[in-house]
Amino acid sequence: MTRHAVPRDWKTGMVEVAPKVFAYVQATGETGISNAGLLVGHEAAIAVDALMVPSMTRRFVTAIKKTTRKSVADLVNTHHHVDHTGGNRYFPAATIIASEKCREELRPGFPPVPLLQRFMPAFAGEFSKLKVELPTVTFSDRMVLHDGEREIQLWHPGMAAHTSGDATVFLPRERVLFTGDLAFHGVTPLAFQGHVGHWIEAADRLLEFDAEVIVPGHGPIGTKADVRSMREYLVLVRREAKTRFDAGMPAEAAARDIKLGIYAAWREPERILPNVMRCYQEFRDETHLPMDIPKILEGMERLRGGPGRHPCL
Ligand SMILES: [Zn+2]
Ligand SMILES: [Zn+2]
Repeated sequence: MTRHAVPRDWKTGMVEVAPKVFAYVQATGETGISNAGLLVGHEAAIAVDALMVPSMTRRFVTAIKKTTRKSVADLVNTHHHVDHTGGNRYFPAATIIASEKCREELRPGFPPVPLLQRFMPAFAGEFSKLKVELPTVTFSDRMVLHDGEREIQLWHPGMAAHTSGDATVFLPRERVLFTGDLAFHGVTPLAFQGHVGHWIEAADRLLEFDAEVIVPGHGPIGTKADVRSMREYLVLVRREAKTRFDAGMPAEAAARDIKLGIYAAWREPERILPNVMRCYQEFRDETHLPMDIPKILEGMERLRGGPGRHPCL
């Protein structure tokens, strides 16, 4: 029987969740502050995601070196977002593995520096140092890495959910699932490049994995109960957005009007706005169109109660 630890505390650092399987969690999970993973194998190690700005990835690399003397031979990117791929170049010896769609999304480069600075002002000074490092091995729906007795299963849901190129990393023997941003625990999910309806379906698929420990893209290590809770948030937002869409209510008014209940206490509740806007695009069959990010940021600032207020950052 595999030993598991599902710690409920939430601080930045490396946590062993099963033998030689580690989650690198970053408190407190807001925009840009994501989680990563480390799988220590027979000959070498595998990293799951590379975090965002240099100061973060350096801390992660230092934590890896304290955990194992083995080098990181492979790095899996769970999707193209900069908070998961920004640090790719700090793993120069690793083969970078991702879904085909993730590579496609990453190829044009990161969003412009001024936009990143506006989105994540706490890290403004570091964005100019980012350089894209593309995955060199890609897969369409599934890929399995074999390391002795250990199987590492990569899976892409076959549709856009959080993004078009989401992938999970599952260790069936250890029953540990790294979801990337297909799961947020205690942090409001963000669908500005996703599809809320499909994300609900993808969450159903996550719940089918025989996983006892779930490491989300943002938030503390958890279990399926946390994924269920996030799924319920998406269901609530989509259902309430539909009623208001049908009534002709503008998206921002709908975002203000929807009662979030327990989810109002999740971090960054103002993400309700991009999530409702994305639902509206879904109802109009327009999810292929990108969203106007500066406009969304302005709207989120209005919902937060003024610009420059970034709680907990
Ligand atoms: Zn993320
Ligand atoms: Zn993301």
